[in-house]
Amino acid sequence: MRLPLHIATDQLKNQVRQRLKGRRRYPYVLMLEPLYTCNLACIGCAVERHTGKLKDRLPLEQCLLAVDESGAPTVSICGGEPTIYPELPELVAGIIARKRHIYLCTNALLLDSKLFGRIPPDKRLTINVHLDGMRETHDYVTAREGVFDKAVEMLRECKRRGYHTTINMTIFKETEVEEIEEVCRFVSDLGIDGILMSPGYHYESIERDIFLTRRDIQQKFERVLEISDRYRITSTPMFLEFAAGKREYDCSPWSTVTRTPLGWKGPCYLIGKRFYDTFEEFWSETDWDYWESRQDDLCQNCAMHSGFEASVVRNLHRSPKDVLRLARWHLTG
Ligand code: SF4
Repeated sequence: MRLPLHIATDQLKNQVRQRLKGRRRYPYVLMLEPLYTCNLACIGCAVERHTGKLKDRLPLEQCLLAVDESGAPTVSICGGEPTIYPELPELVAGIIARKRHIYLCTNALLLDSKLFGRIPPDKRLTINVHLDGMRETHDYVTAREGVFDKAVEMLRECKRRGYHTTINMTIFKETEVEEIEEVCRFVSDLGIDGILMSPGYHYESIERDIFLTRRDIQQKFERVLEISDRYRITSTPMFLEFAAGKREYDCSPWSTVTRTPLGWKGPCYLIGKRFYDTFEEFWSETDWDYWESRQDDLCQNCAMHSGFEASVVRNLHRSPKDVLRLARWHLTG
C-alpha cells in the first residue's frame, strides 16, 4: 500500500467524523515547529527559520496543547531541526499516546545521537529525511559538503533498525528532471517507504532566485507524473496533475495548520501574515474564503501539497473515476 493502512484509515475516520459534525473546514495535518534552531543553513530556508535560539523554543506542554487543539490526525514535526529539541522523546511519546501519526522531518545529521536508542520505532512514527537531490545538488542546497552522505547513511540505518522511513524532496529551479528520477531510483533501492515531492516555493523573506514559477512547476511535475507509477511517490495522482497544470483546484489552507514558537501562523504553512496567540483566534480570524480563492499575489506560483492535497479530497465527490483512481493508487504503491 502507498500509505500504511492505519494512516489512511485515521485520515478517513477524521473526514467522516468532521463531516458528521457538519464541518467543511478542519485540519488534516498539524505542522509543529517547536523551534527555529538548526544545525544547517540551507539556501532555500528563510533565515528566521534556522537562526532561532534554543531557549525560545515552544515548551513541551504548548506543543501537546497544539496537537489537542488542532485535532489533526497527523503531526509533522519540523522546524528548525527537530532532533535538536531537547524534549523530543517526550514530545513523540505524548503524540503517540494521543493516537496521532508523526512525520519527524529531519536533515538526519543527528539521528545517531538523538533518535537511535532514545525513541524506538513505532507504527505511528515516520522518519522523514530531507533529500533534495543526489550528492552534488543536496550538498549545494544544504550549503555543506558531506550532508548527502550522512543522510544516506542514516536512511540505511533507519531502515535497518525498523523505522518507517520516507524522504522529502524539494524541487528547485536548477533541479534537472533526470535527477528527480535518479533520486527516486536510488532511494527505492535503499528500500525507502515513500517519497514526498514539493515544488520549491518562494518564502516571503528569501531573495535567492532558486524557486520555481508556476510554469517551471508544471514542466517538472509533468515528469514526476510520468514516473509516479514506478516509484512510491506519496503525492496523489490528482495532486500531481494539478501541479503539472492539468487540472485546477481552489486552495485548502486550513487543512495544514502551523504552530510555531511565535504562535499559530496564518493564513497557511507558507505565508506568515500574522501569528496568533491561540488556535481559536487563528481559526476564527483568518479569512478562509479569500485564501481559498488564491487571488493574493503570494499565491500565484504556489502548488504546495500542504494547500492542495486536501483540495483533492474535497473534490472527490464530483468524480467517481477519481475515487477509483485514488483507491488504486493506495493499493498499488
Ligand atoms: S495557494 Fe499556497 S500560498 Fe496561497 S494560501 Fe494556499 S498554500 Fe498558502
